[in-house]
Amino acid sequence: MVGLRKNKIAPRALVDLKGIEDLSWGVEASAGRARIGATTPLTDITAHPAISTRFPALVEAANTVGSVQIRNRATLTGNICNASPAADTAPALLAYGASVLVSDRERSRRVLVEEFMLGPGLTARQPGEIVTAIELPLPSPGTACPLVGSASLTKDVSRIDYCLSRRLRDEGRRWPQPGPRSSGVQQVTENVFTSTRFRGCNPSFVITPDGVVVIDTPQLPSKAVAMRETAESYGPICYVVNTEHHVDHIFGNYYFKGAGHVVHHQGVYENFMVSTPDLDPFDYAAEAIPTDDPEGAAIFPAREQYYADPNKGAVVFTGDLDLRVGGHVFHLIHTPGHTPGQIAVYVPDERVVFTGDTVFSECQTWLMTSDVDEWLRSLDLVQELDVDHVIPGHGPVTTTRYLATQRAVLLDWVSAVASAVAKGWSREETVARINFAERYPVDVGQEYMMDHIQTLNAASLWDKLTARGK
Ligand SMILES: Cc1cc2nc3c(=O)[nH]c(=O)nc-3n(C[C@H](O)[C@H](O)[C@H](O)COP(=O)(O)OP(=O)(O)OC[C@H]3O[C@@H](n4cnc5c(N)ncnc54)[C@H](O)[C@@H]3O)c2cc1C
Ligand SMILES: [Zn+2]
Repeated sequence: MVGLRKNKIAPRALVDLKGIEDLSWGVEASAGRARIGATTPLTDITAHPAISTRFPALVEAANTVGSVQIRNRATLTGNICNASPAADTAPALLAYGASVLVSDRERSRRVLVEEFMLGPGLTARQPGEIVTAIELPLPSPGTACPLVGSASLTKDVSRIDYCLSRRLRDEGRRWPQPGPRSSGVQQVTENVFTSTRFRGCNPSFVITPDGVVVIDTPQLPSKAVAMRETAESYGPICYVVNTEHHVDHIFGNYYFKGAGHVVHHQGVYENFMVSTPDLDPFDYAAEAIPTDDPEGAAIFPAREQYYADPNKGAVVFTGDLDLRVGGHVFHLIHTPGHTPGQIAVYVPDERVVFTGDTVFSECQTWLMTSDVDEWLRSLDLVQELDVDHVIPGHGPVTTTRYLATQRAVLLDWVSAVASAVAKGWSREETVARINFAERYPVDVGQEYMMDHIQTLNAASLWDKLTARGK
């Protein structure tokens, strides 16, 4: 349009490609790649979860193109076909190894972006060819493109655009997570994603060629809806697995209705959102809304509506269970202790285990309803697994090295309260004098519960240890 207005071009006819039905619109993500239809405007591209979680440098670059009005109209394909040396999205596409799909009436071909953009205003497109899509291979583990930018010599147009890509050699190391904060999803391995930043447990999912397996659901309604959308952008959800019955691991099931089968242990099924003298789980979920998820208020159900169908397990098991999805085996291993129906989900193909609250990584351990002896035995079971990543119930992703610390936390609590009982301290005295608040913060969003945790941990252990002698 700019060329027309300035009389630089005088075409005989103008064709609006957006009107061609066969040219695909939108983003399609499968296990190995993301495909962006030629007529998709930049705004829709950057908002798509598969792009926002996996290609943050492209999002950052696209957001610098023109203004909101331009981005609502302009396509990534147009930006590349325009072949301006100042095209803001080009460096990110180069760094991600993107290719351009080109077709004429007879045939289609794929050209790497670096071979497509030949010079200012010049592309490898032949007469009669149009671009149908741009494809990006999903980044492999350890790849990060954290740095995008441009340097301007004039006020409007950048003269140097750059995007740095790097790959860490040691695949076992944790790498910086560039994912956008809004979705909160971080990538752990090629196919494993988790979220450790919001109030609630660490909800996670694993993608396979046949679909997605979700492990624990976000407690906050808007995060649950967002995670479902992100997970489904990789394929249909086959299973939603819960590692335990505590409200922060299961409440979000409500927002995953119709997304595959819910799978959990009999112990989770029996205790699913059941009130105890210490806690009404529904009230606990409701209490988090004003502070942690105000926008979730609109989709927070009334109590009766929730309990009419909270999306409990359709597949309920005792002992252990193996699920096979898309060439991946998910070993659901009974690891009681923190709760009776506790499981670990071991995914050998990804060298990952999801432990639920058998592991609280660098945050306070809640042990009031627990059987610590069983818990210690379950830590031994987890220790035997050959994995690079331990995805805990709470706190940052860690490794099996941290299991020794978790064991020490449990033993320190038991030993301190056992000594108190030996000295004849009363329940009140024990609660008043034994406190491990200094050791770790409480997981995100629950900082106000520090005293509650210290009190109930000490009191429940005192009750159990004094009951033994009777
Ligand atoms: C006001 C303004 C501000 C801008 N600011 C920036 C900026 O900050 N950064 C930046 O990088 N760019 C900027 N641009 C340029 C911008 O990149 C492009 O105009 C835009 O991305 C092109 O997208 P489009 O879908 O509108 O393509 P069009 O403008 O419609 O097309 C651009 C070229 O690509 C060809 N083309 C488009 N789609 C296909 C296809 N499917 N197959 C074959 N050929 C195709 C067209 O024939 C044309 O030659 C700006 C443009 C304007 C008008
Ligand atoms: Zn928890």
